[in-house]
Amino acid sequence: MTPFKCLLPVLLATSSHPPPPKLHSVSEVAVSTGSRVVCDVAVVGSGFAGLSAAIEASSQLPDNAKILIVEKNHVVGGNSVMNAGQIACVGSEAQQLANIEDSVELMMEDMLKAGVDLNHPHLLRKMIEESNNVVKWTEQELGIEYRERVTQMGGHSVPRTLSTLNASGNDIVRPMLSAVQGKTNVELLLDTSFQSFIMNDRGDRVQGIRVKNAKKGDETEILCKRGVVAASGGFSADVPFRSIQNPSFDEKVMSTNQPGATAEVLKEALRIGAMPVQLSRIQLGPWTSPDEHGFGKAPFFCLGAGFPYGIIVDPETSKRFVNELGNRFERSMSILKMGHPAVCIVDAEGAQHSLKPDLEELEPTVKPFQSLEELCEHYGMSPQVLAQTVKDYNDGVATGKDEEFGKPFRDDIKPIETAPFYGVRLWPKVHHTMGGLQIDENASVLNLDGNPIEGLYAAGEVAGGIHGGDRLGSCATLDCLAFGRVAGRKAACATPSIVVPPE
Ligand SMILES: Cc1cc2nc3c(=O)[nH]c(=O)nc-3n(C[C@H](O)[C@H](O)[C@H](O)COP(=O)(O)OP(=O)(O)OC[C@H]3O[C@@H](n4cnc5c(N)ncnc54)[C@H](O)[C@@H]3O)c2cc1C
Repeated sequence: MTPFKCLLPVLLATSSHPPPPKLHSVSEVAVSTGSRVVCDVAVVGSGFAGLSAAIEASSQLPDNAKILIVEKNHVVGGNSVMNAGQIACVGSEAQQLANIEDSVELMMEDMLKAGVDLNHPHLLRKMIEESNNVVKWTEQELGIEYRERVTQMGGHSVPRTLSTLNASGNDIVRPMLSAVQGKTNVELLLDTSFQSFIMNDRGDRVQGIRVKNAKKGDETEILCKRGVVAASGGFSADVPFRSIQNPSFDEKVMSTNQPGATAEVLKEALRIGAMPVQLSRIQLGPWTSPDEHGFGKAPFFCLGAGFPYGIIVDPETSKRFVNELGNRFERSMSILKMGHPAVCIVDAEGAQHSLKPDLEELEPTVKPFQSLEELCEHYGMSPQVLAQTVKDYNDGVATGKDEEFGKPFRDDIKPIETAPFYGVRLWPKVHHTMGGLQIDENASVLNLDGNPIEGLYAAGEVAGGIHGGDRLGSCATLDCLAFGRVAGRKAACATPSIVVPPE
């Protein structure tokens, strides 16, 4: 019998979301022989990349095939489920309705600029070209709904970001889980941690994985006839590993990620000869607050309202110091360079655009003030200097040009003048790891000679090279779903290559 105890998945639902669906039962899809299980495809990780790989693999294989998703946590979804539900897309219906002109080339240009040309163009192009198909797939196959309005995130030169109704990755993970639930050929194994790859005798083909049951501690070999998809996410929460790649990001720097965002699958892939790419490229999020743990609430406020409709100020000078819609690297580094938290300020009009509209729910991280003087008193700022800062900014809004920092103003931008005014302290946290395993357009993991390692595919944050030096907001969801689907399809369609010994 299978040594796994299959558990009902429980999503990390935030309080505002409906309870997640439960699997009716998790049938024993795996044919097991003692501590050895045989399947067609094993997927490591149950975030966007892993779930989309499993769904796609399932659609390519017959009902009696066996696709196993192994997840070390007791819950599904990794970082994906707590993501802000934002996805970049070129040519979406929402963009067309708003008459926004966009193109694959323009999005490539934006991403290459942010990524300081370290992005691998063939992967980038493939991802962007797939964006509209990916969004349609989420709408038509998974029933995901997006808000009507596209937003313009930092570093994107036009509005192209779609947001799910609750601005939450849970809006995407939940239907994906339901889709998995409806497949007879997919099984999800929670509390099951990947340990190492099983290789063929020559050591050049992945034939399976060793996993450990987190509760009982027993180990199992999973032989995979067609392939393994590594979809284990990034390593932002892996302080020892990340601080070797970039010593600035030691234990003193907080992270927005779930604690399981660690590097063990990546390390094992390196051990079998996979090519690493840009591992030191680690992103800080500029919209996080030191006044709360993890990702928190500040980003929902700053992304929708504070940055596009407000200003970021150094409380010591009461002056602006950065383009509020610049890329994440520019904004994070300029805050870090100051050596103390910045303050983001927006008025009542701008605050209406918060991705979480219930502003009371965002307190005390986001604080309302009846006047700018009151706000200055709270943050220890000069009311006279701030009044001048706001006046200069408002003059720019009136002329449509931000002379000082080149912030792109939106069509519906208004001067900062209507009480209450909102303030939130900002200090960057480690958010995303751009580097990882080098893949090709088929999501095959490449070896040190640049050739595919047979039987091994990777997608999502564990793969690298797509975002280059810095990732633009809303591009990771797209990356995970686009390459997750490719990886699942390619693994499922690979010719079965291992002969399973008889019991
Ligand atoms: C708070 C937050 C908000 C974000 N918002 C956005 C956004 O709005 N738009 C956007 O584009 N990007 C966003 N990002 C980035 C994006 O969400 C992530 O890059 C993406 O979710 C990664 O998906 P994934 O499937 O690669 O990994 P994950 O979703 O992290 O899933 C990986 C899974 O693998 C499991 N795993 C790891 N190691 C093992 C092992 N040894 N054995 C078994 N399982 C293992 C993990 O437990 C995890 O569940 C956000 C990130 C965070 C942290």
